[in-house]
Amino acid sequence: MAQKYEGCAVGIDLGTTYSCVAVWSEQHNRVEIIHNDQGNRTTPSFVAFTYDQRLIGDAAKNQSTTNPENTVFDAKRLIGRKFSDPVVQKDKMLWPFEVIAGVNDKPMITIKYKGQTKQFCAEEISSMVLGKMREVAEAYLESPVKNAVITVPAYFSDSQRKATKDAGAIAGLNVIRIINEPTAAAIAYGLNKRSGCDGERNIFVFDLGGGTFDVSILTINGDVYEVKATSGNTHLGGEDFDNRMLNYFVEEFKKKNEVDISGNSRALRRLRTVCEGAKRILSFAFFTTVEVDSLFNGIDFSSSITRAKFEEINMDLFDECMTTVESCLSYSQMQKSDIDDVVLVGGSSRIPKVQDLLRDFFKGKDLYKSINPDEAVAYGAAVQAAILSKGFQNVPNLVLRDVTPLSLGISAHIDIMDVVIPRNTSVPVKKTKGYVTPEDNSNVSIKVYEGERAKASDNNLLGFFTLSCPPGTLRGQPLEVCFAIDENGILTVSAKEISSGNMNEITVTNDKERLSVFEIRKMIEEAERYHVEDQKFLRKARVLSELDLCVYKMKNALKKNDVNLKLSPQESEKINNAITVATDLLDKNNQQKEVEVLEVHLKELESMLERLISMTE
Ligand code: AMP
Repeated sequence: MAQKYEGCAVGIDLGTTYSCVAVWSEQHNRVEIIHNDQGNRTTPSFVAFTYDQRLIGDAAKNQSTTNPENTVFDAKRLIGRKFSDPVVQKDKMLWPFEVIAGVNDKPMITIKYKGQTKQFCAEEISSMVLGKMREVAEAYLESPVKNAVITVPAYFSDSQRKATKDAGAIAGLNVIRIINEPTAAAIAYGLNKRSGCDGERNIFVFDLGGGTFDVSILTINGDVYEVKATSGNTHLGGEDFDNRMLNYFVEEFKKKNEVDISGNSRALRRLRTVCEGAKRILSFAFFTTVEVDSLFNGIDFSSSITRAKFEEINMDLFDECMTTVESCLSYSQMQKSDIDDVVLVGGSSRIPKVQDLLRDFFKGKDLYKSINPDEAVAYGAAVQAAILSKGFQNVPNLVLRDVTPLSLGISAHIDIMDVVIPRNTSVPVKKTKGYVTPEDNSNVSIKVYEGERAKASDNNLLGFFTLSCPPGTLRGQPLEVCFAIDENGILTVSAKEISSGNMNEITVTNDKERLSVFEIRKMIEEAERYHVEDQKFLRKARVLSELDLCVYKMKNALKKNDVNLKLSPQESEKINNAITVATDLLDKNNQQKEVEVLEVHLKELESMLERLISMTE
């Protein structure tokens, strides 16, 4: 039985563009999707840095057009990747913020905060988003949140999963389980569809979000959820559709005005925001207008786009989605007719053309749309979080059986990927394979890789170790290599030289690319420092606003005759002096004043205001 954790646990869907947090309510016997401080049920995965503060979520996204270089999004596209990864190189061209190569080829996001240049890795940015989701949950639950289940795309590699776990640790969360997004969505489907659907059901989860695309086939039998196959593209989603529309309008602007705005990050960001809105409108309308005042050098932009045009410029991407759907079905060795329901997840699954293609593919089958595609993943994560926590009696006791997203294998001698566990194998799993010593009188170096490429070094190196052989061991002596993956997806590889019984094993932790315990501790400290700075900023902003209001009320009270008549000349002078000091403190050029100074003055003003008000009564 899985370990159970003390304390409250939430489910977090850490999305590329939006994140969502949910919790199981024992009282209401259902999952509650938690709204943020703006009343929204999803929060943009955006972090922004300004001259005086750090913003996360809606506040960060809302100011992104005016501060594009210091507004970071898409951290999920970077997490667990190397700077030299072609995907990172391609993405980098589209981001208004700078990404450079750090130690060990780790991508580092470079921004300006409080006038100083700072660098953050993707885990740190994601930890800020996770921290925000935690705060959202804590405000709603009115209690601290320690534990969380975080979801990742099924196709995420070992290093991307572990980096996500590190991001949770930096945010001060105990990540009790990482689960796949489609599996989480299937839980939401299973619990909603439960009544009247007895027996085994095969469901196809189609998850097209902001930046990633995931498909999975699961079989639900009672409380057992078994993933049969999974496929996807970690780089396909709503942002790509936005970019296509953006490029289309950049060309149009060029033709109309003979100006190229493709190098102007502010203009691009503004236009991209409008494109995203237009794309959403085209999911229910056939035509929409696109307008941006003074887009570039004072030139206004005004145009329109039809749904048909939007579909045309994205058709190859939509076709790519369908190729992935087809390959997932073939991995599962199922027929289209074996699928009982097609479940739509992710905001981009609302696009009508995508739905039409899916419907056609599954021969006219109705798509299951009863769960909110933006919330299904967090919903399932919250159920899993409750299952893993102590003290929940009413939560359904589901059993999840996942599969490996990528093939795992070794290169024992030459640079050939020898697969030990093929992709889409159910986990937990243990497999042993026989090899032979490659040379006379030498130890055997075993390198563990994940990926689908034939050449081992083209795949992702997870770790390596040496199996020592006694002197005199000749080439061709039998060896055994065993791969074991536990329910958390953690891989242990062991090897044994049969004649001597010598053994060695590693738990693949990817230490070189992963953050060390020391680095994580340092980042936690920094995260706390940023949090304190945020709180300090908010405290100051609140005092300034209260001070402003107090001055306004005092000036109004002083306009009343009876107040003026009752005030002694000394009192009147004291009050006017206090107002002058306050006005001076409120002056934009003088806002460096310590918050304590402001608070003392506010207190003084408030007591004066109280006296003025009492005079009018
Ligand atoms: P997710 O990652 O699941 O939160 O999905 C976010 C993506 O869904 C963003 O790219 C949104 O622009 C996109 N999206 C949300 N609603 C719609 C809609 N009605 N039509 C098309 N795309 C949408």
